Amino acid sequence: MADADTGGDTNAGGPETIVVAVDGTSGSGKSSTCRGVASRLGLRYLDTGAMFRAVTWWMLHHGVDVHDPAAVAARVDEPALASGTDPAGPTIAVDGTDVSAQIRTDEVTRSVSPVSTVPEVRARLLQMQRDVIGAGGIVVEGRDIGSVVWPQAEVKVYLTADPAARAARRAAEEGGSDVSTTESVLRERDRIDSGRATAPLVRADGAVHVDTTDHTLDEVVDLLVGLVERARA
Ligand code: C5P
Repeated sequence: MADADTGGDTNAGGPETIVVAVDGTSGSGKSSTCRGVASRLGLRYLDTGAMFRAVTWWMLHHGVDVHDPAAVAARVDEPALASGTDPAGPTIAVDGTDVSAQIRTDEVTRSVSPVSTVPEVRARLLQMQRDVIGAGGIVVEGRDIGSVVWPQAEVKVYLTADPAARAARRAAEEGGSDVSTTESVLRERDRIDSGRATAPLVRADGAVHVDTTDHTLDEVVDLLVGLVERARA
């Protein structure tokens, strides 16, 4: 399922400093995979998508038009975000309140890609992401981690899956949502995320492409753990 090597980078500093960058399409299994890998290897975990979702939730909550980039940019510095990096229970707080559940609503899911195209949003979150990644020892998931946020990551993975498979998995997770609606929302997010001018979703240089369509979560976690162990060796 993997069709490239890691580009030959070897471990620069051992398990405590390694950065694992996992990018990919919506619903390709990034979160479950990254949490599994981080737990197995005793690393921290950062869900950058949750940060974009938290900003989006805040904008909606404050009546900001999420389709007006200038309106979003004007208020992007207001929400105070805090990301918890325990893979067993990652958290995201806005202004001191945990919003882990609120950021998963359909409204946020449909609004997050437009908000994520706004350069001022990306600039603010980029700095926060780099601060959290800091000394390393972390698995980071997103769309632009290996290309923009942390291109020097020792391990880079580009995770994809067939859209129908992604939609079926996501609909099942969501407790029986309509599969075709779920697929069209995923495709629309991919379209916006891949087409935006600033930090679009791309396969980063040196990223291993892993297609998860025909593989179980355990198989994909095993594959990534193997890549990390090789990079550490
Ligand atoms: O990973 P998740 O589906 O929760 O991400 C939500 C959205 O956040 C993505 O569809 C994308 O628009 C945005 N995002 C991003 N860059 C990242 C992570 C997420 O633009 N590094």
